[in-house]
Amino acid sequence: MKIGFIGLGNMGAPMARNLAAAGHDVTGFDTASVAVDGVTPADTAIAAATGADVVITMLPNGAILRAVAADIIPAMTKGAVFVDCSTVDVDSARAVAADAQAAGLLPLDAPVSGGVGGAAAGTLTFMVGGDATGFEKAKPLFDIMGQKAVHCGPSGNGQAAKICNNMILGVTMIATCEAFALADKLGLDRQAMFDVVSTSSGYSWTMNAYCPAPGVGPQSPADNGYKPGFAAELMLKDLRLSQMAATSADADTPMGEMATKLYETFVETENGLGQDFSAMLPRFEKRSRT
Ligand code: NAD
Repeated sequence: MKIGFIGLGNMGAPMARNLAAAGHDVTGFDTASVAVDGVTPADTAIAAATGADVVITMLPNGAILRAVAADIIPAMTKGAVFVDCSTVDVDSARAVAADAQAAGLLPLDAPVSGGVGGAAAGTLTFMVGGDATGFEKAKPLFDIMGQKAVHCGPSGNGQAAKICNNMILGVTMIATCEAFALADKLGLDRQAMFDVVSTSSGYSWTMNAYCPAPGVGPQSPADNGYKPGFAAELMLKDLRLSQMAATSADADTPMGEMATKLYETFVETENGLGQDFSAMLPRFEKRSRT
């Protein structure tokens, strides 16, 4: 397939490289003009999108996506698939999809989980919103870049799935970290705490697979000085998106709101910027009740 790839950052570059390595004809554009193995560089987003069967965007936020979409939609070939893999607000995803559809394109919102490691290894999970025809056309590309693609329903539903998942993740990480800090103060050994909780009703991905306590459970960023992994500021971005969506849909999400406030304080005033999101544990460890 002829693919235009726009946004060749930490995630986009390895994704584009994997598509090129699988034999697709990939033309890439990034405002930072990065070189990616096997990817033909273009001078503009419009040049990368023109004549492509599929255009993939991997951009920082909804405002940038809207601006890039306004440029490339008129340049794209009718019937082409426009896949946005960025994590953006549901409203931006739905607005861009409506414009693309009106121009005769097949839009998909397809945010990912799996991080930079998953992008490099081609093991991402795609959560996809948009119609089934577009999904079937893009499926072979999802299979190269990832290990799983779930069709979640109409446009915007991929972003909805992503932020609901990550709201659970943020809330659960905080619960796991505050429980470890409480266990410390009660004199409960961390290994014993892990052994019990990981096989009891408090188990979760954050405890069992990504334990925030160093030296306990499987290898995780906690064992590497809390170097990300999944940075606290990216968790904050996704939690904020969950709260934008909750406001827009009039949903009551008190735990999501509290998690957003805690990560906001952690990132903005407590040195959390650049640390893994599990570094909430040393944060709680140092604190007292008041
Ligand atoms: P990044 O900042 O490394 O990459 C974004 C790229 O977009 C940059 O290279 C930037 O130069 C480029 N860009 C900005 N404006 C542009 C424009 N107008 N035209 C073309 N290129 C432009 O970010 P990333 O980590 O690659 O993340 C990309 C998206 O994936 C974000 O929405 C993020 O939330 C999401 N995401 C990231 C991770 C992760 O672990 N990094 C995991 C899941 C999802």
